[in-house]
Amino acid sequence: MTDTAWTVRRLVRSARRVDPSPPAPGPDTPGDDVAPASPAARAALHTAAAERLAEHRRYEQAYLHLREAVRLLHGISAPSPADELDRLRREHAEAREQSRRDSLTASYNRRYLDERLIDLLAAGTDLPVCLALADIDHFKLVNDTHGHPFGDRVLQRMVLELGRALPPGAFCARYGGEEFALVLPGLTAEEGVAACETARENVAAHDWSDLHPDLRMTISIGVARSRPGDDDVEALVTEADVLLYTAKQAGRNAVAHRDADGRVTLAGAAAGRRSIPQPEQGASRPGPPASARAE
Ligand code: GH3
Ligand code: MG
Ligand code: MG
Repeated sequence: MTDTAWTVRRLVRSARRVDPSPPAPGPDTPGDDVAPASPAARAALHTAAAERLAEHRRYEQAYLHLREAVRLLHGISAPSPADELDRLRREHAEAREQSRRDSLTASYNRRYLDERLIDLLAAGTDLPVCLALADIDHFKLVNDTHGHPFGDRVLQRMVLELGRALPPGAFCARYGGEEFALVLPGLTAEEGVAACETARENVAAHDWSDLHPDLRMTISIGVARSRPGDDDVEALVTEADVLLYTAKQAGRNAVAHRDADGRVTLAGAAAGRRSIPQPEQGASRPGPPASARAE
């Protein structure tokens, strides 16, 4: 008998002696040396063994006994190795998916965003990528007025709204705090800007009245676009961040991008606004860098 089997058997016996409510005497509760006949009695013994093992911090073995007890109680046969492999694969896939998600909003998180941007811009892929940084306007005021938990609900709803009209292949990720990234691969500059303008309009037109009757939300967006063969993720993020800052300076609730001549322009109805700042291409925004502002 192996050491483990011996220990478990000893603990099962000890559990039977100390258990204040052992199974009722009868054909299913024979003495220590005879295995009980019914699945229910055997399950009770496995449960008792699990409790004793847990008391001794032998959690893995305790888990095996609990699993056996459940199996006996449900009358199902032990899983085949192939079933076990499937289960492990499923659990691994679930854990991987969870590690990519933001815990508050369930959108993709910063880690996933960074990985995907590196992949998308990797040398050899000529697919242009539009990266938009979207920041909620005056969000601090929402927290200050309605409280942080209310602000959390707005963030959750915002993710749904941002993701609602994304083109195929695009995704939304939480960049940090109340900022989100929209990644739009394989689109022309016009298509990328149009998708962001649609997201901005959706947020502005959204009915928030179930959260609060007076709530109105808007977002500002900066959209940058990689050039084929350009694998500099940081430069792309910096450019989107500068354009976002420009959209804020130009009055918020707007999508800022560069036209073919490199001039910063606002999309849609905001295009007619005056005094749109014109940051240099390759410049950083004033103040803390984008990476320092992420959570
Ligand atoms: P602006 O239009 O210039 O972007 O103004 P703002 O108020 O949105 O920007 P500011 O940077 O002043 O405030 C951002 C706020 O977002 C402050 C911070 O507490 C809040 N915030 C960041 N993360 C979370 C979060 O997970 N939950 C909640 N409720 N608030 C958050
Ligand atoms: Mg912000
Ligand atoms: Mg903000």
